[in-house]
Amino acid sequence: MGKAFDIGLERLTGTSVPGVTGDPERAQDLEIVRAGGGAVLAPYEETRERRREAGVSATAEPEKERGTFYLETFGCQMNEHDSEKVAGVLLARGYKQVERLDAADVILYNTCSIREKAAQKVFSRLGELRPADWTGKNRRFGEQTPALKDSPSDRSNDRRLQTKSGETGGSGNRLLEDRSQNSVRGLLKPGLPIIGVLGCLAQQEGQEIFERAPWVSLVCGSASYRKLPQLIEELETGNRRVTGLETDTEETFETEITRRDNPLRAYLTIIEGCDKACSYCVVPFTRGPERSRASASVLQEVRQLADAGYTEVQLLGQTVNSYADPSARKMRFSDLLVAVAEVPGIRRVRFTTSHPRDFGKDIVEAIEAVPAICEHVHLPVQSGSTAVLRAMARTYTRDQYLEKIAMMRAAKREISITTDIIVGFPGETDKDFEETLSLLDAAQYDGAFSFKYSPRPHTPSLRMADLVSEGEKSRRLAILIEKQREIQRARNEQLVGKTYEVLVEGKSRRESQWSGHTSSNRVMNFTSQGEESLGDYVQVTVTGATPNSLIGISHRNPLRGWATSEG
Ligand code: SAM
Ligand code: SF4
Repeated sequence: MGKAFDIGLERLTGTSVPGVTGDPERAQDLEIVRAGGGAVLAPYEETRERRREAGVSATAEPEKERGTFYLETFGCQMNEHDSEKVAGVLLARGYKQVERLDAADVILYNTCSIREKAAQKVFSRLGELRPADWTGKNRRFGEQTPALKDSPSDRSNDRRLQTKSGETGGSGNRLLEDRSQNSVRGLLKPGLPIIGVLGCLAQQEGQEIFERAPWVSLVCGSASYRKLPQLIEELETGNRRVTGLETDTEETFETEITRRDNPLRAYLTIIEGCDKACSYCVVPFTRGPERSRASASVLQEVRQLADAGYTEVQLLGQTVNSYADPSARKMRFSDLLVAVAEVPGIRRVRFTTSHPRDFGKDIVEAIEAVPAICEHVHLPVQSGSTAVLRAMARTYTRDQYLEKIAMMRAAKREISITTDIIVGFPGETDKDFEETLSLLDAAQYDGAFSFKYSPRPHTPSLRMADLVSEGEKSRRLAILIEKQREIQRARNEQLVGKTYEVLVEGKSRRESQWSGHTSSNRVMNFTSQGEESLGDYVQVTVTGATPNSLIGISHRNPLRGWATSEG
């Protein structure tokens, strides 16, 4: 692949595809152009607009015209989906979304803090927004203004480490193109726009963000997004600074005013927060305790999505399979999967991320029994060493994890399995790392996101001894990535000659070249002599393979309809 295509399909699909990477949020081999002209595009854009509006139009007409907002997203799929909710809430109140900072009355960054580099990236963006005439007296707040300060929690972290593994870039909107001065000050709208920090970093740092970047006036965590219009109004009527930092509210599930960016795959959060308390992870602090959404409410939204024309939905949660229906129905996660798959019009149901401890046979049986439940499981292992898993507080051993893999490999449908791995956790010895490498051989993953351990504020692992040096972490990461790359190459090559159904999600600028995902979530780049439409399901035979994608040819023959042979 490579140069043939233009921009990230990720923008179109709104998802990362697990590949052998240290850069999880960036899809690999996905350089397909988002629909950009030609016969297929008009219907595509219509569909897109219809589905985009599907959530927003469910609410009353905007009360009155308000200002403009710019929203940039950092981080995981859950953050992307949260941003869809934020946009929905503001659009429904009469705000208009703009794609340039200099057109915005309100600038919002929906942030990630899972690794230190992600947090640094947000602060560097905030530094770029420091107003041009910021001379020590803040016009809005009338305060002394220091230069951008270090985060207190980062300062308190002596063992601060630089990670080289890629972190999320902002996404979802177009930035000002000229960052050559490493600043966009002076290019913003006249007067100081409202600058807000949302999401995990907001929750992690709270009011400290005002200290570090005093030109920020709004800090709001994911559980309080419905309050955003009210918070903005408070600022407009003279409040200096506002926060929304509660974590235990269920408001985050109120998604009737979601503004969906992806016209082909709709995301739904079914469980928020996390109670698992892995010793390295900041998520329980940034997203609060685990709370599930009532099954009836999930199913109602899926029906609305199907009515709007969606055929694929993805259920989201930090530990999606720990879902516990709070209603009297008490649906298990596997029952919910089946019920979602049975909604008329729904053809693909995905779910992520699964926690190994709560991954039971009932989920595999649901995948076996219901073709609409996609045969892909993302099951993060984190380490192949039981000693390291214990130190991570992952609640399973290497052998118990491998039993789950064996259960999936024995399924009647071939399930694609992907994972997350952390290298260089405190105390990880050469032998522990060897065990992670041997686990790759045993598990035979179809994709892996790999990370260097990054110490995070509030987490128990901050106090652990036997730190692994940065150089050693990089060495281990490189070995791991290379090994997994070879495993994927070999696994994908075995698929040559087989035929899969592919949802058409992107078109290349090159004649007759298309891209999409199989039900097992493999990226398929394929040639077709037919006139595909984005959103179609087509049969594609695999003709070649790379570690991160398949190459194929579509069976569609414009004169004779569908070919029928299966590989
Ligand atoms: N809930 C999921 C699970 O239990 O596996 C993972 C969610 S977390 C947002 C995504 C991944 O980030 C984790 O699986 C882990 O590999 C990685 N991660 C989390 N904290 C990290 C840290 N402090 N350093 C490096 N990687 C980290
Ligand atoms: Fe973080 Fe562990 Fe919860 Fe996953 S299960 S979100 S890694 S604490």
